[in-house]
Amino acid sequence: MKAALLYEPGDLRVEEVPRPEPGPGEVLVQVEVALTDGTDLKTYRREVQMVFQDTFGSLDPRMTITDVLTEPFTIHRDVLPKDAWPDKVRALLKLVGLDPDHANRYPHEFSGGQRQRICIARALALDPKVLVCDEPVSALDVSVQAQVVNLLKDLRDEFGLSYVFVAHDLSVVRQIADRVAVMYLGQVQEIGEEEEVLLHPSHPYTQALVSALPTADAQGNVTGKRIVLSGDLPSPADPPSGCRFNTRCWMAQQKCVDEEPELIERGTGRPTKCHFVTPTVGAPAAV
Ligand code: SF4
Repeated sequence: MKAALLYEPGDLRVEEVPRPEPGPGEVLVQVEVALTDGTDLKTYRREVQMVFQDTFGSLDPRMTITDVLTEPFTIHRDVLPKDAWPDKVRALLKLVGLDPDHANRYPHEFSGGQRQRICIARALALDPKVLVCDEPVSALDVSVQAQVVNLLKDLRDEFGLSYVFVAHDLSVVRQIADRVAVMYLGQVQEIGEEEEVLLHPSHPYTQALVSALPTADAQGNVTGKRIVLSGDLPSPADPPSGCRFNTRCWMAQQKCVDEEPELIERGTGRPTKCHFVTPTVGAPAAV
């Protein structure tokens, strides 16, 4: 029997497939095992690992890098015999571009970019299929950001990984994403192929985000019209009625206050959560 894990906020359920497309706000990961008890669930958890934004917070300062990288094997004891751990640690450090001879150092002895490489190595220790990367480069310098993004791209290609990559920087999104879901106040507003969403944004919020990307012509003159949103971001705990974006949307009408739009296809070839979709040609994003 095939089974699928369905992740929702505060909720973890197991459902039988077939379930071809995830619904709004859901991430569906299918595996060919029956997830009927805790042991299967533990085995499955190896396949979905996490990379966090705060590298200091996600590494125990009292643990050496060897301790950090072997901790997954102390939890999943059947993965690797203990005598193979030192070689695995060296291999993981090499994989992420770090010196294997530094395995006995502590997190504070590394730079931010190096610590993020260690976190990526730890996430890869159990040979996962999916990495959830929560703003993994936003706390890094721009030059280091590019190195870590390139590392993630190389690892994706080498190991056939899938990423759920959370980011605010559209330049980073352009480099790494195949599909993009634009979120506002906890809801997906538009979802589709990266190029389609960023070059032809159909939701007003996406249009505003894309317009903020710096663009220039061949002479170096700034081009494109910036859409500046007015008003403060409402509280996600008490969102506006109807469309959540209506308090800041320049296209808002009474219907937007009265009625919440569905996330459905509206003639643009991809789902958009807006009553009045107007496909545009966005400014090409600078990378
Ligand atoms: S539904 Fe209305 S308020 Fe919401 S994004 Fe569309 S036009 Fe703007």
